[in-house]
Amino acid sequence: MRKSDEIRGWAGDLEVTVCNLHAKKLWWQFPVAIGMSILLLPACSMAFMLDFTFEPGVPADLQTAVNYAGGLWESWLLDTASGESEDVEIKIDYRDLGANVLGEAGPTYVWYDDDYAYLPSIGAILYGADDTDNMDGVINFSNRFTWYYGTDGNPGASQYDAVTVAVHEIGHQVGFYDSYEASTNNKWGYNITGTYRLMHYDTFLRDEDGDAPVAGGGDSFNETDNPVYFVGTNAKLANGGDDIPIYAPSSYSPGSSLSHLDVQEPFSNYMMAPLYHEVCHDLSDVEIGILRDLGWQAVPEPATVVLLGLSSLIFVLRRRR
Ligand SMILES: [Zn+2]
Repeated sequence: MRKSDEIRGWAGDLEVTVCNLHAKKLWWQFPVAIGMSILLLPACSMAFMLDFTFEPGVPADLQTAVNYAGGLWESWLLDTASGESEDVEIKIDYRDLGANVLGEAGPTYVWYDDDYAYLPSIGAILYGADDTDNMDGVINFSNRFTWYYGTDGNPGASQYDAVTVAVHEIGHQVGFYDSYEASTNNKWGYNITGTYRLMHYDTFLRDEDGDAPVAGGGDSFNETDNPVYFVGTNAKLANGGDDIPIYAPSSYSPGSSLSHLDVQEPFSNYMMAPLYHEVCHDLSDVEIGILRDLGWQAVPEPATVVLLGLSSLIFVLRRRR
């Protein structure tokens, strides 16, 4: 697997307005999920590690919130690269991002093979690509808003929860990132040494007619189909067998279109929705499914497994009577 030159562009504007906590569901699922996951871990898996480098001017309390969010992701994803692997290094900055944008994220390069391009985190962690020197990605936080830097998910009425935005932006660094470039050439894929390659994530997208993105353009994929769909097997399994709607408004929204879940219920409440609404510190089963389709081993296990665990527990208890 080879490494591209530096690339530019942001996917992952988290705009001001939806992300609902699943606390009601998780309070009982969580211990069971952790227990099941430990049993299912292959022996060669290790913890996935994120390293943050903070630019001067990033408030110390924001650094604490970002490190906390990184710890959450480290508890959710496993490092499955064979042999040596490395940490994912992300630079964090705090600056003016315009009127409605809370945060943005992007990779600094992509890994590529003959067919596809991959995010730095996926190249390193899932394929063992070695890059010890470079920053892998950048996340910027807006300095225009009143942030809540606590890690308990309890912001005041006029505050934005920094952990929620940090968790969301890291989500773009580990998978939720498309390669469509509307601002320059309306093409899919990265032009690397003369050949366009789709981002791995792109290959799971379909529009209403079932068309898929084609590297280099010339395709019939409708990027403003409102929505388009993610059709990976694991994600569909977590969504009752249905395709997952992906945000693709009829007016293309740079940084938001194609790299987020759609703004319809229940997806609008999940972490990778494009609009901020409430505190969200956890992954939905659908998002875990998407990460699995992208190659990650993710914990906790999907709810289907959890439910099986609970059913068998109940079964055992009854049998003992
Ligand atoms: Zn985003």
